[in-house]
Amino acid sequence: MSWGFETDPEYQQDLDWVDEFVRAEIEPVDRVIDHAWDVRDARRNALIKPLQQRVRERKLWACHLGPELGGPGYGQLKLALLNEMLGRTHSGPVVFGCQAPDSGNAEILAHYGTPELKERYLEPLIENEIVSAYSMTEPQGGSDPTAFVTRAELDGDHWVINGEKWFSSHASFASFLIVMAVTDPDADRHHRASMFVVPADTPGIELVRNVGVSGHEAIGDTHAYIRYHDVRIPADHLLGERGQGFAVAQTRLGGGRIHHAMRTVGLVRESLDMMVERAVSRRSGTGTLADRQMVQEMLADSWIQLEQFRLLVLQTAWKIDRYKDYRKVIADISAVKAAMPKVLLDVAGRAVQLHGSLGISTELPFGSWVMESFHMGLADGATELHKIQLAKQLLKNAAPAPGLFPTRHIPALRADAESKFAGLFGED
Ligand SMILES: Cc1cc2nc3c(=O)[nH]c(=O)nc-3n(C[C@H](O)[C@H](O)[C@H](O)COP(=O)(O)OP(=O)(O)OC[C@H]3O[C@@H](n4cnc5c(N)ncnc54)[C@H](O)[C@@H]3O)c2cc1C
Repeated sequence: MSWGFETDPEYQQDLDWVDEFVRAEIEPVDRVIDHAWDVRDARRNALIKPLQQRVRERKLWACHLGPELGGPGYGQLKLALLNEMLGRTHSGPVVFGCQAPDSGNAEILAHYGTPELKERYLEPLIENEIVSAYSMTEPQGGSDPTAFVTRAELDGDHWVINGEKWFSSHASFASFLIVMAVTDPDADRHHRASMFVVPADTPGIELVRNVGVSGHEAIGDTHAYIRYHDVRIPADHLLGERGQGFAVAQTRLGGGRIHHAMRTVGLVRESLDMMVERAVSRRSGTGTLADRQMVQEMLADSWIQLEQFRLLVLQTAWKIDRYKDYRKVIADISAVKAAMPKVLLDVAGRAVQLHGSLGISTELPFGSWVMESFHMGLADGATELHKIQLAKQLLKNAAPAPGLFPTRHIPALRADAESKFAGLFGED
C-alpha cells in the first residue's frame, strides 16, 4: 500500500525553482504590464516572452498537456502543486503556458479539430503565439444553457451564425472563438446545440463592447459582448458531432474547474501569509494584534479552511490522474468548485478586516481577491449548480429505508445485537 503526502524530491526541486521564479521574475512583471493575455502588446511581449523561454528550458511549459501535444504530461496532481504558486500572480499561468481559457480551448481543438484547424490554431495556441476566446454565455441565459438562442444554420458547405454572446473573455485580442450555437432547435434540450471554431476575422462579428469586472480595473475591460450577424464559417469548423455541443463543452470544463481551484489555493495562502505578517507587525495595546484571541481565531479558521480545501483539490487531482475519466470525478470536481469561492471570500475577507483601512484600500490586493471569489463562484458554472450536481451524485444510488425508521435506528440495532449475542452471557 502507498499513501503519502510528500512530493518526490526531484519535482520538489522544480517547485522550489518555480517559487523563486514567481517571486523574483513574474511578480515584478505584474506590476508594470496591463493584461498578460494580450499578445498584441509589445511591452507585455518584451517582458513575458523571455520568461516563457526560461520555463520551456526548465521543461515546465504547458504542464497540463500530454507529450502528444508538446507538454510533459505531468498529470493533474503535479499541476496542482505548480498552479498553487502561479495562482498568486496575474501573469504566472501565461508564463507557464497553462492559462484559461486557452488551456481548455486547446483540449477541445485537440479532441475535435480537423488536422487543418489544429495546424492553424492549436499549435500556435499552445505556443502562446495567439490566444482564444470561449463564447458560450448569452445575455439572457448563463446558468441554463438550454435557454441559448444563438443559431447556426447550414447553408451549402458553410454554417451561418446569428445571435448574441456575453462575457466572451479576451475576444478582443483572440485569433479565434469557440462558439456554442443552436443547430437543432427541435431536438431534446441537451442535443440542440453544437460547437464551432469561428476565426476572429470572419465578417459579421460585432464587438458591442468590452465589459469590465470589479477588481480587475488594473487589467482593463476584456469580457466581450458580441453580436454575430450572418457569420459564415466552413462546415468543417464544427467541433464534434452536430448536436453534441454540451458534450464538447464538458471536455474543457472538468479540467478548467479544477485548474481554477488549484490557483485559488495560491491566493488563499497568500492572504493568510499576509495576515500572519500583519498580526505580528501591528501594535495593539501593549502588544500586537497577534496577542488578541479574536485575531488568533481569524488565523486559525483561515488555516483550517485553506488546508481542508487544498486537500480536497489535491485528492481530486489525484483521482483524475488515477481514473483518467472525468465522469468518475464529477462529484469531486463539483465539490471543489462549490467550496472554492467561500474559502477565498472568507480568508481574503478576513485579510481585509485585519489590515483595516489599508486592507480595504487599493494599495493591497484583497479587494480584488474578494471580487475574485465571486468570479470563481460564477465562471464555469454557478456554485448553486455545482451543489445540485454534487447532491445528485450523492443521491444517485441511495435507497429509501425499508421500514418506518432509518436503518441505523438504535433500538433496532440494539435488538439485533442482543439477538446476535443471545446465550453468550448468562441471565443476570
Ligand atoms: C470573470 C468572468 C469570466 C467569464 N468568462 C466567460 C467566457 O469566457 N465565456 C463564457 O461563455 N462565459 C464566461 N463567463 C460567464 C459565466 O459562465 C456565467 O457568468 C455563468 O455561467 C453564470 O451565468 P450568468 O452570469 O448569466 O448568471 P445567471 O444564470 O443569471 O445566474 C445568476 C445566479 O442565479 C442563481 N441560479 C441560477 N441558476 C440556478 C439554479 N438552477 N439553482 C439555484 N440558483 C441558480 C445563482 O446564484 C447564480 O449565480 C464569465 C464570467 C465571469 C464572471
